[in-house]
Amino acid sequence: MDRTRLIELPKVELHNHLDGGLRVDTVIELANDIGYVGLPTGDPNELRGWFYRGGSGSLERYLEGFEHTIAVMQTRRAIERVAYEAGLDLYADGVVYAEIRFAPVLNTHRGLRREDAIEAALLGFARARSETGVIINLIVDAMRNMPDSELDAKAAVAFADAGVVGFDLAGPEAGYPAGEHRRACAHARDHGLNLTIHAGEADGPSSIAAALDECGANRIGHGIRITGDIDGETLGPIATRLHREQIPLEVCPTSNLHTLGIAADAHPLGRLHRAGFNVTLNTDNRLMSAVTLTDEFELAVKHHQFTEADLHRVTRNAVAAAFTDDRTRRRLNDVVDAAYAN
Ligand SMILES: [Zn+2]
Repeated sequence: MDRTRLIELPKVELHNHLDGGLRVDTVIELANDIGYVGLPTGDPNELRGWFYRGGSGSLERYLEGFEHTIAVMQTRRAIERVAYEAGLDLYADGVVYAEIRFAPVLNTHRGLRREDAIEAALLGFARARSETGVIINLIVDAMRNMPDSELDAKAAVAFADAGVVGFDLAGPEAGYPAGEHRRACAHARDHGLNLTIHAGEADGPSSIAAALDECGANRIGHGIRITGDIDGETLGPIATRLHREQIPLEVCPTSNLHTLGIAADAHPLGRLHRAGFNVTLNTDNRLMSAVTLTDEFELAVKHHQFTEADLHRVTRNAVAAAFTDDRTRRRLNDVVDAAYAN
């Protein structure tokens, strides 16, 4: 499978952070616009290298980059631009449908309300769609380590029929149980939003169970530490449940390699996929990981022996797990199936 073929294959991305996917040049321009002097360097190449902390093996260091992207995303204009450019970049990578997420509470440092930030992102996605056809929906994040997640859920619900399709808990996992945000999750769910929760990225299987039981998650962000509940061929209770109920896992291999400090071959992607878990492939943070969805496909092919049939299956999984209507789902499946039939 050559690179051109991988780029052209229609892709569906379910786990992608808006503030983790800025263009480096845009970070510098926006910093200049608002007089933000905190960037470690004003040179695009140096800054690109700074953001890319490949192999650091530390989630904390990886998260440092967000201080700067968030610092420059404090105006409607900046958020709209970042969202628009994300749409163009995903389109160029062969993505036909994406759900992009961010935590609007982090965009309120200079006077914006959560609702302003959400509205600006939706405008950017709509502009990208009108120019390219790429469909982008929004998932609103609350931060596990911050209070007032119910305000995030309320802001998300206000746009439930206008482009916000889901609610998520992001931020540090260990020590910040999902159950503390039970009420926010219930509010989102009761008002028609779907739930995906970051779990099993930095913490073990019990964190995945909490996301399902206490928050009612429809999908799990990452989920790879479910391997802690698998012994050889034997699935423990939480793994059995993920497997039996076919709960979609938003697997983001490159991000995990960087935050966990493991080699590509050691990632559980291939193992979970072959064991019949509902695996999807995603990028998480394109800037911090210097990665595209095409790169993730390539990693799956090179390091986990994925065939075109495997790529087709994970893309089909993503279409089925997307927080969208059945008509869009049918259309996406037609596009995907036609490309793989060629
Ligand atoms: Zn994530």
